[in-house]
Amino acid sequence: MLKIKEIKKEKNTIYALSEKSPFYPDGKGGQLGDRGKIGNANVLMVELKNNIFFHKIDKEIEPGDYDFEIDIKRRKDIAQQHTAQHILSAAFEQIADLDTVGFRMAEEYTTIDLNTARLDEKLELEAEKLSNEIIQKCLPVEEIITTKNELGNYNLRKELSEKIQGDIRLIKIGDFDINPCGGFHVKNTGEIGLVKIISKEKVKGNLTRLYFLAGNRAIKDYNERIKITKTISNLMTSKIEDVPKRVEETINKMKEYKSKYEKLNEKFAELIARDLLNKAEIINEIKIIYLDTEDDYINYLPKFLPMEEVLYIAKKGNRFEISSKKINCKDLINKIKKAYPELKGGGGENRGSIIGNIDISEIKKYL
Ligand SMILES: [Zn+2]
Repeated sequence: MLKIKEIKKEKNTIYALSEKSPFYPDGKGGQLGDRGKIGNANVLMVELKNNIFFHKIDKEIEPGDYDFEIDIKRRKDIAQQHTAQHILSAAFEQIADLDTVGFRMAEEYTTIDLNTARLDEKLELEAEKLSNEIIQKCLPVEEIITTKNELGNYNLRKELSEKIQGDIRLIKIGDFDINPCGGFHVKNTGEIGLVKIISKEKVKGNLTRLYFLAGNRAIKDYNERIKITKTISNLMTSKIEDVPKRVEETINKMKEYKSKYEKLNEKFAELIARDLLNKAEIINEIKIIYLDTEDDYINYLPKFLPMEEVLYIAKKGNRFEISSKKINCKDLINKIKKAYPELKGGGGENRGSIIGNIDISEIKKYL
């Protein structure tokens, strides 16, 4: 039975408060909290503030005694990730004398921060390999309750914080590692299944943060990665091992085609420039060349037009690109924007743009 002594509501959040609770609180020792049920309400989060448990729940209940249920599957997942963290941290310490100075468990992954700005990849793989060997050895994970005075009997990986009072709980993994900890752990390293580092980044200037997955999370991730590589391999119609080469070839081909395509656009612009000029509408001695097209050759046309005679306007979607050496583009754009304040755009003397909904016939009125 769980005794809820008070219900607290804050905006859309409901908390069931108790003095004692079987639910492990979120964030304690860097670990994830328990989930489950209090009566028929789902527990979404558990906070421990001033020795009071705040269970965030999804529906209102009355204070009183309740049956509760703890999500054991989740607890097992947390135990897998957390024990893997002990092993990985110990492996880095033993192989390279690297300390774990930070640890964070998230819903999707777990991180450790190692006190090095640059972590050699070979070393990373070596520590991961040793960790998996320890997992496969199926070493017992024991809990030892001791006191501060007796700590000298144990060769701890990490010095205990001075602040800690009373009984001390040590987690002993075979003869591989022993460290004080208050979280959930598996009973045997074999239960972890496997541990896999998935990425790393440099943080706080001088630390390396490793992201890793253990147990079912790692298996789920492996399945996901197989699905992704299969999809890419099907798309590339290539064997999985050939995919990197094929992707690189495809990207190089695309670059080559893009360059050829741009050359053809330029050539085409040169070919039609003369014709467009002959057919141009003339207003106040300004030859107006207007094109409304999504085609890319329009970018090259000004290069082949006598811009000191021409006002060139190219419309793509709701954007008008304007260029000329005959008139001042900036003045024209400002006049139009003054008449249509909802339009955006701007530019300089020889080129600029107008963005928004306006018809070309309206633009011509300002010449
Ligand atoms: Zn632990």
